[in-house]
Amino acid sequence: MVDETAIARLAQDIRDASRIVALSGAGMSVESGIASFRGPGGLWEKYDPEEYGHIDTLRYKPEKAWIMLSEMQREILKARPNPGHYALAELEKMGKLRAIITQNVDGLHHVAGSREVIEFHGNLQSVSCMDCGHQVPSSEVSLESLPPRCAKCNGPVKPDAVFFGEAIPSDALMRSHQESTTCDLMLVIGTSAVVYPAASMPEIARDAGAKVVEINPAESPLTRRISSYIVKGASGEVLERVVQLLKSDR
Ligand code: NAD
Ligand code: ZN
Repeated sequence: MVDETAIARLAQDIRDASRIVALSGAGMSVESGIASFRGPGGLWEKYDPEEYGHIDTLRYKPEKAWIMLSEMQREILKARPNPGHYALAELEKMGKLRAIITQNVDGLHHVAGSREVIEFHGNLQSVSCMDCGHQVPSSEVSLESLPPRCAKCNGPVKPDAVFFGEAIPSDALMRSHQESTTCDLMLVIGTSAVVYPAASMPEIARDAGAKVVEINPAESPLTRRISSYIVKGASGEVLERVVQLLKSDR
């Protein structure tokens, strides 16, 4: 059950805002069947992401890293956007949402039709050779024998996602910073806000004068410290309902 009072409050804040930015995390895709890192079930009960998803594991024990990656690839390839992804795409079309900074690597914001998407942690949609740079879509990578190798030079390959131990691409960092300092409302959706530097964006936005609102069934370190309030609930349900309210204005 979603809290209608909180939803009405959020709809009003969206009406009042002129430049909205969303920061999304793994919780955004839970309703698409992709498990979050810290939630129940899914891959992460088997694999510690900070170990299996560390760049050194991929470099020095690629067969180990690819066991987790291949399962994650399969999960992502069959996932579809949920009503939350579509609602954000709709908010962008309505001229309300300026950009989405996403920590997700599943590409579902793009599939749902969002255009301004900053992939803070890259994505698992493509894979590049660590020796010659040759890039192919993940769907073309054979996962029959692990680790997969480059079709051109037989070198080691890596998904175009940011691994633990790697720096955030400077373009994504710069654009996120820019959007965070210029928005007047930041929606923080489905993130536990513990992975840095992504988790610093709400504070940057708040310090630059924006209102910060969380959408999450659970509180985070931002709650009552950085965010003005939290709409407790699943993001698909909450965002779908908010967009319905906004559309009934028209
Ligand atoms: P997290 O796993 O740390 O936190 C998930 C958050 O989502 C929690 O706060 C939880 O309460 C909330 N949540 C659970 N169900 C929800 C729902 N239906 N609606 C809204 N919120 C819900 O995820 P994180 O903060 O994004 O950080 C972990 C890292 O995990 C990120 O860097 C991301 O790259 C990576 N990751 C990505 C995916 C993906 O691409 N879908 C999946 C797993 C992990
Ligand atoms: Zn190569």
